[in-house]
Amino acid sequence: MRTYKIAAIPADGIGPEVIEAGSEVLSVLAQRAGDVRFEMTSFDWGSDYYKKTGVMMPEDGLEQLKPFDAIYFGAVGAPDVPDHITLWGLRLPICQGFDQYANVRPTKIIPGVTSPLRGVEVGDLDWVIVRENSEGEYSGHGGRAHKGMPEEVGTEVSIFTRVGVTRIMRYAFKLAQSRPRKFLTVVTKSNAQRFGMVMWDEIAAEVAQEFPDVTWDKMLVDAMTVRMVKNPQSLDTIVATNLHADILSDLAGALAGSLGVAPTANIDPERRFPSMFEPIHGSAFDITGKGIANPVATFWTASQMLDHLGETEASERLMRAVEKVCAEGILTPDVGGGATTKEVTEAVCEAIRGENI
Ligand code: ATP
Repeated sequence: MRTYKIAAIPADGIGPEVIEAGSEVLSVLAQRAGDVRFEMTSFDWGSDYYKKTGVMMPEDGLEQLKPFDAIYFGAVGAPDVPDHITLWGLRLPICQGFDQYANVRPTKIIPGVTSPLRGVEVGDLDWVIVRENSEGEYSGHGGRAHKGMPEEVGTEVSIFTRVGVTRIMRYAFKLAQSRPRKFLTVVTKSNAQRFGMVMWDEIAAEVAQEFPDVTWDKMLVDAMTVRMVKNPQSLDTIVATNLHADILSDLAGALAGSLGVAPTANIDPERRFPSMFEPIHGSAFDITGKGIANPVATFWTASQMLDHLGETEASERLMRAVEKVCAEGILTPDVGGGATTKEVTEAVCEAIRGENI
């Protein structure tokens, strides 16, 4: 029996609803496999915890999480707690403290979900965006002088290090190598930004030599948005800086049809610490408690978690079940259906139980 210890942090809004759905699906997958167990431990950290204690998680939060094999995260953010507190108090300390430097965002069109792109069908758009998650434009370097005066100055400095760029590039080439097309697109803005971005291009060419079986090309980020919209079939694995990939993955999510289906993984590829898996969407208080949150993103990120743990068979089984249920039209209202979270979850559990492969 293989046992995995999973830390669940459902947190705010629809987070608890989708994590409950995901936990149920994981336990059915374990029953189906017979030789694997998921030991879930739930942590009540988040905005309610903040209102009671003044902090989003306890001071020794990272220490408590360290022994786990993975973190299954819901959503964070509340209308009555400032965004910088919810973000910097929980998600970011985990990403940074556990050096989860690869943010991996798969996007594809799920059967039954319609892309806003005309004529683009299931299979035409199947990408994985790898976002550098530890430095670049979001490294927090900069400052403001002469605040409020006419001569005020603000700087926001991007930091690119050889270590940081090399490790994300290696991760992206390896991921591209593991996918059938073995094709990577490296995104920069090296025509206008002549230092860090040119170094990024040079390091890409160096790392490419370690992966002779991977084909790769380069795109400027502005032209990349056009290619994503006009020629989605021409892309597969994509690597970009923290800021560029942040923007491109929102575009990717929109092109795939809904926020409710988009997952993300924050990975420490060296496996020194637990990696964290979450839906991309936020806490969505407008639908909290109504029982209609789309659980598909949370199922898909569970499949990423299973892949990371080496449970490929369970991961693939889960995605087959999700795609089958969506193709049958059992969908929540955000993707044009009339089903509840519970109905979608039950249908996915049934599909897993009933599968004869
Ligand atoms: P944040 O917590 O980042 O401030 P938010 O609460 O503003 O996020 P988002 O997650 O960005 O909400 O989503 C915007 C809207 O999309 C939500 O208000 C909701 O209506 C819809 N939405 C997001 N996720 C889902 C989901 N899983 N199921 C159904 N609808 C969703």
